[in-house]
Amino acid sequence: MSKLIFKYGAMGSSKTAQALMTRYNYEAKGTRVWLVKSSTDTRDGADILRSRIGLQASAFVITPGMNVRELFEVQRMDGENYEVIIADEAQFFTEAQIWQFREIASEYNVLVICYGLRTDFRCQMFPGSKALFQLADDIDEISSVCQCGRKTVVNARMNAAGQVIVEGPQVEIGGNDKYESMCWTCWRNALKESGVALPLP
Ligand SMILES: [Zn+2]
Repeated sequence: MSKLIFKYGAMGSSKTAQALMTRYNYEAKGTRVWLVKSSTDTRDGADILRSRIGLQASAFVITPGMNVRELFEVQRMDGENYEVIIADEAQFFTEAQIWQFREIASEYNVLVICYGLRTDFRCQMFPGSKALFQLADDIDEISSVCQCGRKTVVNARMNAAGQVIVEGPQVEIGGNDKYESMCWTCWRNALKESGVALPLP
């Protein structure tokens, strides 16, 4: 099936778990799946995809300079006829790499499912997410719930004192202590409490 799908959600919305379960379901039916991840996030070791509920698997790691289409074609020449590509941490792929996934889907009749964040800690899109919104056939949300019961839309970054911050580089890898997904209202209230202004464009 020639299709590019983007499944986005906030941090902690079970994206990696869903990626691994989707892969399991395809492989159980005999479908060949290429599991890949961006190299930017190496929290769990270079080639490990690990979900918060404990599922894990090794994945092919794609660095920003790699051409995904060429990698895919090399695998095909080696006899790996992947019908499905499952990509995690898709926000960290470059714009060019998302275009390459788009081309693979059409050229080789492959289903490409990308899992990732929509926006960073300042509510700005990551380059990979932006390209996926531009190019994907389907865009699905994996929703999760804030402490207050509303839907999470912000991946808030916290400092060591547990205060929400809006300064720093777009990519700063961290675990549960550094980020907290929350609804917009809780985020702006937390910023107010810390005396930090909304990072208006
Ligand atoms: Zn909330």
